[in-house]
Order: sequence, then C-alpha cells, then structure tokens
Amino acid sequence: MNLASDNVVGASRPVLEALLAANQGAEGAYGADAHTAKAEAMLSDVFERECVSSLVATGTGANALALAALTPPWGAVFCHAEAHVLDDECGAPEMFTAGAKIVGIPGAAGKFTPAGLEAALERFPKGVAKAVQPACVSISQVTEAGTLYTLEEIGLIADTAKRHGLKVHLDGARFANALAGLGCTAAEMTWKAGVDVVSFGATKNGGLACEAVVFFDKATAENFTFRRKRGGHTVSKGRLLGAQMVGYLQDDHWMHNARHANAVASTLSEGLAAVAGVRRVWPTQANEVFVSLPAAVAARLKDAGVRFAPWSSGSMPEGFAIAADDVFARFVTSFATREDDIAKLVAIARG
Ligand SMILES: *Cc1c(COP(=O)(O)O)cnc(C)c1O
Repeated sequence: MNLASDNVVGASRPVLEALLAANQGAEGAYGADAHTAKAEAMLSDVFERECVSSLVATGTGANALALAALTPPWGAVFCHAEAHVLDDECGAPEMFTAGAKIVGIPGAAGKFTPAGLEAALERFPKGVAKAVQPACVSISQVTEAGTLYTLEEIGLIADTAKRHGLKVHLDGARFANALAGLGCTAAEMTWKAGVDVVSFGATKNGGLACEAVVFFDKATAENFTFRRKRGGHTVSKGRLLGAQMVGYLQDDHWMHNARHANAVASTLSEGLAAVAGVRRVWPTQANEVFVSLPAAVAARLKDAGVRFAPWSSGSMPEGFAIAADDVFARFVTSFATREDDIAKLVAIARG
C-alpha cells in the first residue's frame, strides 16, 4: 500500500487504451495530429470557452512555461511560501522566466490572502529601479496543504492582483480533485474568478505524463509555441500527449477518477482521525490527508508495509505542534486506491 503520493501509481486503463489506439498508423509530428487537435477542443469544452491549450509532459514544465509567459525577467511572481513553483521545481520557473523572482507569501493551510498579497506588493514598488516589478500571482489549487481555496477566495485574490496589474496563474496539478472537492465547474474555478492561465494536471489523476497549459486569451498565449519548443516540451510524437488527454477527458473519466480519489481520502481521513492519538493537521478537502501520528501508530503502519510521506511545514495551524515523538504524515489517494485497502490501513493504525 503506497500512499506517499498520487504519482506512485501508473496510468489508468482508459488513458492507456487511448494511447494504444493512437499508436497505430502515421500522423503529423510535434502536435500536428488529430489527437492533439481533439484534446485541445475538449479542453475548450471543459472550460466552456475558446482556449489556447498546449500539452506538455510535466507539471514543472507547465508551471515554468506558463509563468514565463506572464512575467518579464525583472518581474516578481507571488505565490504561497510553500508553493510547488517555489520549493519543488529546482528553480525551473526562475530559469524559464530568465530570472524572475518568486516571492513566497506566508499563510495558514497552504493559502495566501489578498492582505498577504498587498503586504508583499509593498516590498516591490512599481517603477522603482531597484525592485523587481510585480508581474503575476500563482495560486495552487489543490494547495500544498491539501486544502482548497473557495471560489470567493480565488476571486478576491484575482481582484487584488488585477487592481495592481498582475496576471493570475493557477497551478492545477490536482485540478480535477479541486473541482470534485468544490463541486463547481472548471469555468467557475478559473476565468470566471479572474484566472488567466492554468496548469491543468492530468498525470496525477490517471495520465502517464501529460499536462496542459491553458490560456484564456490569445494575447497572453502569443509566442507560447516558441517557448514550449525552446523549453524542450514540444514532444516529437506529440500524438502521444494528445491521446493521453483525450483518454483522460473522455466520458468524464477524469472527474470519475477525482471523485473516487477524494472519496477514499475522506474515508481515510475519518478513519485515522478516530484512532486514539491521531490528529488531523488540516481538513481533508481533496485527495490528501495530513495527520500527526503517534510514533507507535506510524511504526505499525510502516511495519505493515504502508508507505506515506513524512511531512514538514512552516504554516501549521495556530497553536498546533507535532509532539516530539509524533510523526507528521501525508497520505495521498488516487484513482487506483482501493476502498478495502483503506479499511485495512485504518485497522492497522488502530492496532
Ligand atoms: C505534482 C505537482 C506539480 C507537478 O510536478 P511534476 O512532478 O513536475 O509533474 C505541480 N504543482 C503541484 C502543487 C504538484 O503537487
């Protein structure tokens, strides 16, 4: 049982079947193929408007290329202090933007607020030559704490950003899990709330290696074709990305996967919270469960072969501390997580 992350499992069957079908015959290279065209059209359907979508192979690539389209090299990108773009991408956003500064904003439960953004903006006055120039914000949805911004929270951050002339990027590595958690539409969670560009993740929720950068206006997407190629993300046999995205979006497969992952995460969360000594660190709002485990519980799980990710965070809830012997653990469910495995896991934790 490996719940260390949602990328420890392979691709889902419909995605693989779409890949196998697309493997037949000859097609145009570098994304000039029917599967890629279909995937792009399906993404426009998902977002209920004309989008400019580009498929890439990794989430880091999607984020770094998207941000590069939103900031000059002397710009500042504002995000949560523990955002993936800041902590987990080996400086790719800095490199692809040719040196823009990524500015972390602290905030509870993995979220920053409009007030936090305003405070950060004060450090970088517009037009002052010694300061990097505010260019955009990046919101992680699902957040790094497994929580969700409400539509209102996204809207308020976007309003603040717009008032200061900043573009808004949404890191949706777990986009479907966020939609399932909020019970809203993709349009509501993005452009209707003021988001300009989305890194639309598929890999963690059933893809093999496929994400999309989705722009809602053509001007912002200008030259992205060149950015992607230059960044090494224009895949030679591009149909293999297109086919993954089609298999992922077809027949509501992506949302089916996300609803399943979220449901089993919720069962796991309730089950663990009922075990003596286990405390939830943040509420479970999508497919990630963050708990403080007594050492004995952690040891029982490890001994039984249950894998989870040891965690740490500088944005713990007010007054919450992990006790000296306790283990801060993250469990992530996926489309492949089985309900009976969750029941077994909770029984092992109970001892
Ligand atoms: C997984 C993840 C990504 C994408 O990471 P890659 O490993 O590059 O695909 C981006 N943002 C967040 C918040 C993630 O969890």
